[in-house]
Amino acid sequence: MKKLLVCGAGGFIGGHLVKRLKKQGHWVRGVDLKLHEFSDSPADEFILGDLTDQEFVRQILDMPFDEVYQLASDMGGAGYIFTGDNDANLMHNSASINLNIIREANKMGVKKIFYSSSACIYPEYNQMDPANPKCAESSAYPAAPDSEYGWEKLFSERLYLAFNKNYGLDIRIARFHNVFGPEGTWVGGKEKAPAAICRKVAEAAENGFIDVWGDGLQTRSFLYIDECLEAVERLMESNFIGPVNIGSEEMVSLNQLAAMVMKIANKPLSINNIPVSYTGVRGRNSDNKLIKQALGWAPSRPLAEGLTKTYEWIQEQVSVSRPVLAE
Ligand code: NAD
Repeated sequence: MKKLLVCGAGGFIGGHLVKRLKKQGHWVRGVDLKLHEFSDSPADEFILGDLTDQEFVRQILDMPFDEVYQLASDMGGAGYIFTGDNDANLMHNSASINLNIIREANKMGVKKIFYSSSACIYPEYNQMDPANPKCAESSAYPAAPDSEYGWEKLFSERLYLAFNKNYGLDIRIARFHNVFGPEGTWVGGKEKAPAAICRKVAEAAENGFIDVWGDGLQTRSFLYIDECLEAVERLMESNFIGPVNIGSEEMVSLNQLAAMVMKIANKPLSINNIPVSYTGVRGRNSDNKLIKQALGWAPSRPLAEGLTKTYEWIQEQVSVSRPVLAE
């Protein structure tokens, strides 16, 4: 049994990770600003607090954990990251969290620490062609992320790498590409494309329409949560530090994603593409050559399968949250 710390345990990926680690029989301390919204955490301890506060980080990192999973960050979907309205907060908060955690983890002699970076670190100039984006790990520099969120992730990658270089701290870095699944934010402004589209389809009237941001021709790939956690486990068990992409290579346009959800829901709707300035890069796809070679990992199931499970969960959320007329 290992002693593990999960920072961001009240969030989407952290919540699923705690469940997986507990099933494997480990002792887990979860930490977050908030409790998990959608299910009770099976963590042995769940401590609420703000990881931008150095004193709080000192309290929760009070032992030489076998592994620390650092998933906490101030983040959201395109409507949160790309409008520019949250840039100062998300840079300052996420950088402070990482600075605090790496310092205390190093002091405490934590044995291994996982850092969740993002595909948002990749240069915009390699992602202008929706049919042919380039996201190999080696293409990260010269750096030109299209968001401050991406710049903070790149800074923090370098921070973890520097602690590895100068203090021998054992680190692992993954660049996640659009992870989705049940029990993720699906409403309120921080939800990402798969959840937003599932919600819109579930809420739409029969033969109605849904809004899709931009021209809908922008491309992305999406990775189901269980696949993501399997890859994280393999990375942690390997001697490979990364940074490495953890994503899917099944690239679709946003309009194609919407059509897939409609098919799953058996609801033929029209798509209303609305012009917005914050859709992110034109094309993005995971490049899995390195992870296949280093860890022998690739996603095992098609996008439609994960989307079906996600749609079913979001449809249920929509139906229980819909206001009903009092009798
Ligand atoms: P999430 O927003 O659901 O989870 C992040 C958690 O961090 C939240 O529960 C939030 O409350 C917590 N947090 C934020 N600020 C905090 C603070 N000051 N103190 C304590 N807790 C704080 O996001 P997620 O989708 O679970 O993502 C987990 C990690 O993976 C994040 O670092 C994210 O940047 C990264 N990532 C996710 C994706 C994705 O598609 N989900 C893609 C790339 C990278």
